[in-house]
Amino acid sequence: MKTIPYSRQEIDEEDIAAVTAVLRSDFLTQGPAIKTFELALTRYCGAAHAVAVSSCTAGLHLICLALGLGKGDRVWTSPISFVASANCAFYTGAQVDFVDIDPVTGNMDPDRLEEKLASAQRKKRLPKLIIPVHFSGSSCDMVRISALAQRYGIKVVEDAAHALGAFCKGVPVGACTHSDATLFSFHAIKSITTGEGGAVLVKDPTLAKKLMILRTHGITRDAECMESSSPEKWYYEMQELGYNYRLTDIQAALGISQMKKLDDFIHRRRTLAQRYRQLLAALPLTLPPTDEESAWHLYPVQLTEEASITRSALFDKLRTRGIGVNVHYIPVHLHPYYRRLGFKPGNFPMAEAFYARILSLPLFPSLSEAEQKSVVYRLEELL
Ligand SMILES: *Cc1c(COP(=O)(O)O)cnc(C)c1O
Repeated sequence: MKTIPYSRQEIDEEDIAAVTAVLRSDFLTQGPAIKTFELALTRYCGAAHAVAVSSCTAGLHLICLALGLGKGDRVWTSPISFVASANCAFYTGAQVDFVDIDPVTGNMDPDRLEEKLASAQRKKRLPKLIIPVHFSGSSCDMVRISALAQRYGIKVVEDAAHALGAFCKGVPVGACTHSDATLFSFHAIKSITTGEGGAVLVKDPTLAKKLMILRTHGITRDAECMESSSPEKWYYEMQELGYNYRLTDIQAALGISQMKKLDDFIHRRRTLAQRYRQLLAALPLTLPPTDEESAWHLYPVQLTEEASITRSALFDKLRTRGIGVNVHYIPVHLHPYYRRLGFKPGNFPMAEAFYARILSLPLFPSLSEAEQKSVVYRLEELL
């Protein structure tokens, strides 16, 4: 029996040809494909600048550095996310805290944020940066989050690892209308892939320049940016302690090719999500809210009280029947590393209740209608 995975990449002959062409060219890395890929991203999202990096995690690290985070600073993010959204703060010496979620969307709850900000201000413990995460590809309420952040003078970075191709009130996620920066991931199972890869989108040219220098050891070769002038042609300057977080041209070529198919991918994901909504309507499941603007990275359902099976048993039984379900996410604060820092069960009750009932069903562009039917059939049988 062939297993239906919960997600998988979409690679066609065009992608393979694009990568092959780079392999036959002069540049495997630091060549022309990076700029072209960055342009494709800025055109799609409407942001002024895109900085391609080796992963979304690397991008999160760099944006934290570029925004000046360090020891003594605080970052707030969502507990329902991949660990990278929070870990990036620690890389800079900053501390992490979380804002509980809206149990319907799984996204950071602006009401909880408002309360927590008011209380933090009284205790003089305001964060320097907030990182909302667009869970499953559906945008957070960025209008409210950015209004609150502005009121307290806090920076906002969107973790849009799930949300390339999504919109927020008619504007593409990545335009940075309500944030200082937006992060994308091109890991194999995200909206588009470069194998591993990521990008930081920003409006501010100074911030973009800083990110570009930090991704390559803190080195600049641009005479205009140098601190000392030298007539020597070989001269370059290391101005900050940066990293090697570059994307390769091999990866960027795949990214350029994948970007051409992004709209088709999202359209297909949306169609499948609408079909799940119809096919699963009668089952004891809470379905994800309809969001016409979502990129549908995941299809997370929640088992309701009426279900006669536990989430754990349902997960195991689906897996043994060849249905590759998954759980997104174990709340970040409950991982041992975070517990050792003092977080514990009960800290973020909405996130913990969400985690107890959530299950991601298979969703990817090439999921066939027959495969989707067999997912639904197994769910009907077990529920
Ligand atoms: C995948 C993911 C990341 C990390 O992306 P990488 O490119 O693998 O580093 C960060 N945040 C979220 C929400 C993710 O899903």
